[in-house]
Amino acid sequence: MRGISILLTYAFLLAAIIVVLVRALPARHNPFAPIDLTARPGIATTAQLSRLKGDREACFTALDTASVQYTPLEDTPHGKKCGLFDALTLDRTLTPYSATLQMTCAETAAVYMWERHVVRPAAVEIFGSPVARIETYGSFSCRNIAGTRRLSQHAFGNAIDVSGFRLEDGRVIDVKAHWGKRGKEGRFLKRVHSGACELFSVTLGPEYNAAHADHFHMDMGPGGICR
Ligand SMILES: [Zn+2]
Repeated sequence: MRGISILLTYAFLLAAIIVVLVRALPARHNPFAPIDLTARPGIATTAQLSRLKGDREACFTALDTASVQYTPLEDTPHGKKCGLFDALTLDRTLTPYSATLQMTCAETAAVYMWERHVVRPAAVEIFGSPVARIETYGSFSCRNIAGTRRLSQHAFGNAIDVSGFRLEDGRVIDVKAHWGKRGKEGRFLKRVHSGACELFSVTLGPEYNAAHADHFHMDMGPGGICR
């Protein structure tokens, strides 16, 4: 009997210590804390971003707190299979995009973090010039994955395709032209691709298949691929 009560006391103490330690962690390392999109990614960021997929309110609050400007969209099915749910039209983040983006809230949150913590610092560090525009083929498109009968995450606005970057000094970095090449452009593309892998559920580039030779595909679907 005494042995059991000592064991229980130890178990209780251990649990209390764990709770105190987790609470003391910065929010980006604490999987239970709400996400702060402006904070540098931490060990809990992937889990926190993933949780936004199922929590509309927390997701839009996270965008608001980061001052992302958007117009919310009513949930709208498109045809039998596609549709936009928990989605928005992106009005303004830190960087302009070459096309209008209609995306899910969770995809927007990951895009914002990628822009802020990966793309923009990499451009300044490698080229000494900020990013002026991100070139995109868009987000929402009711279609299958190229060459398959499976519906793409684009069918839900839960993916973005990025083909390149234009810097303020006029330099253009293009996935098709510069992927795998030596030099600053190639290094920059590697950096933003691997940074995307830390934030999105799925990141695909030219090494995945020929359909991605000219762009990065990044989505917040159920998969888990980085290639
Ligand atoms: Zn895509």
